[in-house]
Amino acid sequence: MKDTLGREITYLRISLTDLCNLRCVYCMPPEGTKKLQHRDILSFEEIEEIARAAVALGVRKIRLTGGEPLVRRGMVDLCRRLRAIPELKELALTTNGLLLPEMAADLKAAGVDRVNISLDTLNPDKYRRITRGGILEKALAGIQAAKDAGLAPIKLNCVLIGGFNDDEIPALAGLTMGEPVEVRFIELMPIGDAEAFGPEAYLPCDAVLERLPQLVPAGDNGGVAERYRLPGAAGAVGLIRPLSHCFCDRCDRLRLTADGQLKPCLHSREEIPLRGLHGEALRRQLEKAILHKPAQHGELSSASRSESARDMNQIGG
Ligand code: SAM
Ligand code: SF4
Repeated sequence: MKDTLGREITYLRISLTDLCNLRCVYCMPPEGTKKLQHRDILSFEEIEEIARAAVALGVRKIRLTGGEPLVRRGMVDLCRRLRAIPELKELALTTNGLLLPEMAADLKAAGVDRVNISLDTLNPDKYRRITRGGILEKALAGIQAAKDAGLAPIKLNCVLIGGFNDDEIPALAGLTMGEPVEVRFIELMPIGDAEAFGPEAYLPCDAVLERLPQLVPAGDNGGVAERYRLPGAAGAVGLIRPLSHCFCDRCDRLRLTADGQLKPCLHSREEIPLRGLHGEALRRQLEKAILHKPAQHGELSSASRSESARDMNQIGG
């Protein structure tokens, strides 16, 4: 289904939980997030019903996210149920990867097509700092497990933070040399706990092009990333620039929170409740959300915060 601006809405991101086994400093408060009661989060039956209704309206890609989607008990079973929706073309996950060594093979068997894994640094000490306690080796083992299970093509999400990991741009991009992975640099967004960062942290992705002038355009694959390639590389480097290059005119997505609110825009306060709706009423509410999708979000910069009423771990990126 198209929105009023002619944007075809084909992508639904579903957050399975606000909880996480890490506490990234730009995403979550140090004490973590308030645990919602089981009855306050959507059951797998409810998620499947909403997903089926969204697919009936034209959604073709679903991404499970969080918080950390792999910490939600039984989520492999949910993947299997979603994969059984006939018109769904792609089922993907965004994860910090820590639980992939145990789960990657089961996820693949359940029908998950591919995974995006967050990796902001290749330095164990910096990884521990940015995730407040995470162990880099475990994330790298998760990436390897995803490769071994065939959850490909793998994309590595790297939030670019001035003064923290801009010195690692060449090393992170270098991961694309030998393997067909896509390393995506994402501009830090001023939402939730990222508000504590100073202006120097909000580094535009132009910094990647400046550090790596040998990058050549690698063509569009329909997503929000601008893609480049290092000469001779097997993989690609993606730039996701919500601050410096607004891509709202190409936005094709809706977001469902773990407690059942639909967000037509990541950076808007607007939320549309879906809980308790079935059949025709659910379809009408989804249509309303698509028709009400804002043309674009307000200005985002180190000085202008997102208007979203939720932190990133409560939305899913
Ligand atoms: N826990 C999973 C993970 O880390 O991949 C999924 C949820 S996480 C909220 C989804 C993505 O949002 C991650 O790639 C994370 O780096 C990104 N993210 C979180 N806070 C952000 C912020 N303030 N600005 C830009 N990206 C952010
Ligand atoms: Fe957890 Fe992902 Fe947020 Fe990090 S970015 S705290 S891994 S939800």
